[in-house]
Amino acid sequence: MFHNGPTPATGSDMLATHNPANPTERVGAYTPTDPAELARLVSQARAAQRDWSARTVSERLELMAKWLDAIASSTEEIARAITLEQGKPLAEARGETMKSLAEARQMLAIAAQPLGSVHATMRGGVTPLSVRRPRGLIAAITPWNFPVLTPMRKLVPALAFGNAIILKPSELAPAAACLVVQEAEGILPEGLVQIALGGAALGDALVRCGAEGVTFTGSVATGRAVFRAASETLAELSLELGGKNAALIHDVRDLDACLDQVAAAAYLCSGQRCTAISRVLVRADMVEDVTQGLVRRAEALVPGDGMHQGTTLGPLITSAHHDRVAGMVRDGLAQSGRLRTGGVALDGAGHLFAPTVIDNVAPTSSLAQDEIFGPVISVVSYSDIEEGFAILNDSAFGLSAALFSADAAIVERFMTEAAAGMLHVNHGTTPDSNMPFVGIRNSGVGAPSVGPGASSFYTTEHAVYLGHQ
Ligand code: NAD
Repeated sequence: MFHNGPTPATGSDMLATHNPANPTERVGAYTPTDPAELARLVSQARAAQRDWSARTVSERLELMAKWLDAIASSTEEIARAITLEQGKPLAEARGETMKSLAEARQMLAIAAQPLGSVHATMRGGVTPLSVRRPRGLIAAITPWNFPVLTPMRKLVPALAFGNAIILKPSELAPAAACLVVQEAEGILPEGLVQIALGGAALGDALVRCGAEGVTFTGSVATGRAVFRAASETLAELSLELGGKNAALIHDVRDLDACLDQVAAAAYLCSGQRCTAISRVLVRADMVEDVTQGLVRRAEALVPGDGMHQGTTLGPLITSAHHDRVAGMVRDGLAQSGRLRTGGVALDGAGHLFAPTVIDNVAPTSSLAQDEIFGPVISVVSYSDIEEGFAILNDSAFGLSAALFSADAAIVERFMTEAAAGMLHVNHGTTPDSNMPFVGIRNSGVGAPSVGPGASSFYTTEHAVYLGHQ
């Protein structure tokens, strides 16, 4: 069983986690962080940050590289913790852990690059510079769907750029985040990186704790609450929110290869990914071929306990989320669409929901507009590319979009007009470890946490006028 102290927490205050594949099995018991403890974490982190920010960048990065090596030696333990609390197949959990390390190493390389610049001189005897400094204390809040990747996306840039950080992982799956922070013990200065455990009330308190930067990943509704709370302290914000990501299939030489990527992007993590493809927009004359291909792929998945070898689709995180997904499918079908496969709860390991394909979905209906966060594909047809682009961009979200086309003019148009932060041409929606992970519209506010742009959130910019005597 996972826990955050020398002994498992007990009593009514205990924060317990359960195995989504076997909901009666308790897999974690944690001591929640109370307001007095949070205040103590803040003052410890501030004290540690003063020393950390004064160290050379190379010293910081060297210690962090040791920390990443320690995490690398625990990848199997971390992956198993993810599957037990979050439910995804163990192979996916291993992949998530390796990707978090790959991104982390890229971030250390980015943090070693020059920061700031020398500007054109406007006055004699004065050299104008812009320099960047660590922002200070970072408050970070993460969701449950990527229990190690999302925390690492915040811990690593925060520390690499000279900040201290307090992370509140999701109360539904905190084990992996606790493990990576435990690995820092004896390597990074005490107090510099802290875990706070709890739910919405603690998240709200953390946003208001006086941190200079608040980075949040989660739903749009909570993102709005975080935005409001952060307006009290005017902390710098980075919000990474939901998505309703589309694949626009126009002309493809190899339909099988295209659909392999679309189905993988839709069903990995049982569709509980912010970048999951959930709308498939298809030229009308290809719709039946595409739908049948997606149905075949959905039905070939092996739903079950993520710990069992051979499982390729794990359960949804909780029964409440399972009911929400089932309700959205039911209500959506009442508006438009034809159920081609799935759409039902499955017997067996926990909160399983059958991989689902619905075609004939109206572009304005809830199945095409709302984030379902489950293994559900909505197929929408369009008559010409004009209509295809109009449907693609008719969304409150703007995270990822994929285009499948060999037509250079359409590719060019997609690159300039698609309303999404991450644009994929002729491949699914899997991002690289050194590229900005970023959304527009309701999908994101502020700097991305992956790639070089992270420095604009994790550091502050200063104008220096260097006069000479
Ligand atoms: P959520 O918004 O319910 O919770 C996210 C975190 O916020 C949790 O740690 C929760 O305890 C905390 N929280 C809840 N209320 C709070 C409040 N008032 N103030 C501060 N913190 C509060 O999201 P979830 O259900 O955990 O995750 C699913 C959502 O996350 C989906 O919408 C998904 O698209 C999004 N997501 C986005 C990205 C991205 O990078 N854009 C990545 C992963 C997940």
